[in-house]
Amino acid sequence: MSEATILSGKDTANSVYHDLNKRIISLANDGIRPGLCVVLIGDDPASQIYVRTKTKKLRSLGLLSESILLPRYVKEKKVIQIINDLNNNSKYHGILVQLPLPDHIKPQKIINSILPQKDVDGFHPENVGWLSIGKPRFIPCTPKGIMRILDYYNIDLIGKNIVVIGRSNIVGRPISILTSLNSQGSNGTCSLCHSRTKNLEQFTLNADVIITAIGKPNYLKGNMIKNGTVLIDVGINKVDSDNEKGYVIVGDADWDSVINKVSSITPVPGGVGPMTIAMLIENTIEAAEKFG
Ligand code: NAP
Repeated sequence: MSEATILSGKDTANSVYHDLNKRIISLANDGIRPGLCVVLIGDDPASQIYVRTKTKKLRSLGLLSESILLPRYVKEKKVIQIINDLNNNSKYHGILVQLPLPDHIKPQKIINSILPQKDVDGFHPENVGWLSIGKPRFIPCTPKGIMRILDYYNIDLIGKNIVVIGRSNIVGRPISILTSLNSQGSNGTCSLCHSRTKNLEQFTLNADVIITAIGKPNYLKGNMIKNGTVLIDVGINKVDSDNEKGYVIVGDADWDSVINKVSSITPVPGGVGPMTIAMLIENTIEAAEKFG
């Protein structure tokens, strides 16, 4: 087998930012500065890092990026009230509530309270519905980023066997819809696998493209895939290490055992992750263009 192509999310994201700059300038000429407000509840360290990274990147592009930090025990009613205010604030074209939420707050109730036209995460049922009928408005950022990586590297999905592992509303389910839509860049035949799937290997060994989003370090082994597979690894898993930090970040795939079998693969980190932020910014700009 020839050497695998490393599908760089960083390179893909840089090309996205290059294109977005023109759109930001064009909006500025019309007096519009795209704005995003992130609502963060509690003090989960990983969520705080995600929010800081997003804010930094948006600001570096000249966009308005603000966050509202709420204490862990804030009442659900109060959060909805704050979202209502943001819905009515024309400074913000996008609203994002950082997940996961504390147990006493129902995520679907919060998502439903975001104005669908400002739902740049694409999680509102109205936007999920538009995606399901093949007329997407806001596509969830991680799946959208995956499709963009495939496009950037000219990986065609037409008629391919696609296996998605993981069926969350954030990654697995929307990417299963996107890869199987009757539209340009899609038209794959998709199997959506999950923890109740019997004999996962039966699917993965027949897959041309595997997209794994389960959150289990090194779970997918080389003996579970066929030669020439395109492997998109969405997993972000912290594993103990004796390095300075005390941990390393790895994907769902066992790199050492899959690398000699795949035709191309996204690394972790540096694969899907950078594209999630790029797509959030693109969605915010789209919201400003459509509804600004
Ligand atoms: P999630 O909500 O926890 O969903 C995990 C899914 O994996 C579930 O559908 C579960 O099945 C399935 N699953 C678990 N173990 C399995 C197994 N052994 N075999 C088959 N399916 C299995 O996770 P998520 O939010 O989608 O995230 C998944 C991973 O992607 C995490 O590591 C997360 O950190 C990462 N992530 C990365 C990005 C990025 O930007 N790179 C963005 C989002 C998420 P059931 O439904 O049956 O429980």
